Amino acid sequence: MAARLIDGRLMAADIKAEVRRGAEELLRSRGITPGLAFILVGDDPGSEVYVRSKGKACEELHFRSVTERRPATIAEAELLEMIAGFNADPAIHGILVQLPLPPHIDEQRVIEAIDFRKDVDGFHPVNVGKLVLGLKCLRPCTPAGVLELLARSGNDPGGKHAVVVGRSNIVGKPVCNMLMQKRPGANAAVTIVHTGVKDIAPLVRQADIVVAAMGRPRSITGAMLKPGCVVIDVGMNRIPDPTARNGTRLVGDVDFASAVEVASAITPVPGGVGLMTIAMLMKNTLQAAAGDAGS
Ligand code: NAP
Repeated sequence: MAARLIDGRLMAADIKAEVRRGAEELLRSRGITPGLAFILVGDDPGSEVYVRSKGKACEELHFRSVTERRPATIAEAELLEMIAGFNADPAIHGILVQLPLPPHIDEQRVIEAIDFRKDVDGFHPVNVGKLVLGLKCLRPCTPAGVLELLARSGNDPGGKHAVVVGRSNIVGKPVCNMLMQKRPGANAAVTIVHTGVKDIAPLVRQADIVVAAMGRPRSITGAMLKPGCVVIDVGMNRIPDPTARNGTRLVGDVDFASAVEVASAITPVPGGVGLMTIAMLMKNTLQAAAGDAGS
């Protein structure tokens, strides 16, 4: 029997509607309009698309937004100065530096220059540390979106075995940290696998929940899954497709066609995790604007 689809479009729209109501209340009660600053360095078309869609979400929710575009040749010192300006600006509650940055700029130094209370990407070491400790913080958007998808689709991870494939700082590690927390909506037994594990298949097959975040198109097949498991596919890979208008197609890290026959629920790509990321960014910005980003 085919798995139920976990509809990221619907859930992202619900979250945005909740954020919009929260922002209206914040304006009414305290006269605050959430403000988000985007810094885009260079002319990577992918980054341009991301920043544009995030800006659109700000418009939709009546957030204030500022976009600063700079050439790839920008000096690191100038970028740090710009961040310091936004750190000091009371109308800006979230600062987002679109990654990756050109190689002459130290990405970690840039992340650490952002006031952690305005770090709506959740990448600052203070937020990472607080996440691990289970303290209030700004949580990275894509991993937070994964937990929302599970919760809103009625797939409580509590007491389940989750296997996360991938250990990057922006997806795999934070997803693990969130899933293992002793709190409602988490509380899972968590295994993390990566390229250091010779054969991931026997571990993946033990999972009640599989989170695929490896950046390898259609690598997790139905044959690797336990019947009835829940699959969250974070992967976003462009592969050649001569039948598509632009010659490419977006696929996940999971082989959807075979996985859908084995899992009980699965996120599609596109239409799954991707849309949640922007919704969670808006939620983080509202949290920061409300002064609720931890201290
Ligand atoms: P990444 O930094 O390249 O990390 C990939 C991770 O997967 C690494 O830990 C790597 O292991 C592991 N891995 C790679 N191949 C593997 C294999 N064959 N078996 C087991 N583990 C393997 O990627 P990322 O930034 O986390 O992104 C992962 C995917 O999510 C990408 O497709 C990306 O486009 C997508 N993504 C989507 C969103 C969204 O909004 N939906 C956001 C971010 C990322 P090692 O550590 O051993 O190298």
